Amino acid sequence: MDSNVIWSNEKKIERTIEALKKNNMNGYYVKDRYNLIELIKDIVDEGSIVSCGGSMTLFETGVIDHLRSGRYDFLDRYKDGITREEITNIFRQAFLSDAYFVSSNAVTENGELYNVDGTGNRVAAMLYGPDKVIVICGSNKIVKDVDEAIKRNREKSAPINAKRLDRKTPCAKVGYCMDCSSPERICNEYTLIRRQNVSDRIHVIFLNENIGY
Ligand code: SF4
Repeated sequence: MDSNVIWSNEKKIERTIEALKKNNMNGYYVKDRYNLIELIKDIVDEGSIVSCGGSMTLFETGVIDHLRSGRYDFLDRYKDGITREEITNIFRQAFLSDAYFVSSNAVTENGELYNVDGTGNRVAAMLYGPDKVIVICGSNKIVKDVDEAIKRNREKSAPINAKRLDRKTPCAKVGYCMDCSSPERICNEYTLIRRQNVSDRIHVIFLNENIGY
């Protein structure tokens, strides 16, 4: 990445971290994946019960591998051969976990987390349940405000995810949201976390990279 772009992104990350603090959420900037994992070790105690929402960012950053390392009791929704029933059980057990790992469809410079879910398990756990929520984001997820967050989801996150999941939706063909009525629609629960009531519950960690959708 061009050094001037890196600088610009760093400024954006700094502004967003300050705004998150005002909304009672912790923000962090880590330089690389090694420091990301070290920070996670600081925030989440060894032996904790951990779970995660659906996220390509967690795979790309090596966080899923870290959760599988044996350091934690990981409720692994991605394990080989898992049945639909087992996944549903993990979704429910996740509410009782010590730490829940996710990314966010967008984070605004006002310190807000915007997310759209298909089944609601991810956003539900972000809102309530797990003692800690660890949100990992590339700088590409930062947007100016809620309007931009909605736009980002309609033009990027949702169509790309629909394509990845091979959904029979119009966005998976044309590449942008057409507010479909498809039975395979992936956009059902729209959430905005403007503030967190419980201190030290939500931790948002940024890397200065393009990661995930
Ligand atoms: S509402 Fe339908 S068309 Fe729009 S992004 Fe979601 S799945 Fe795609």
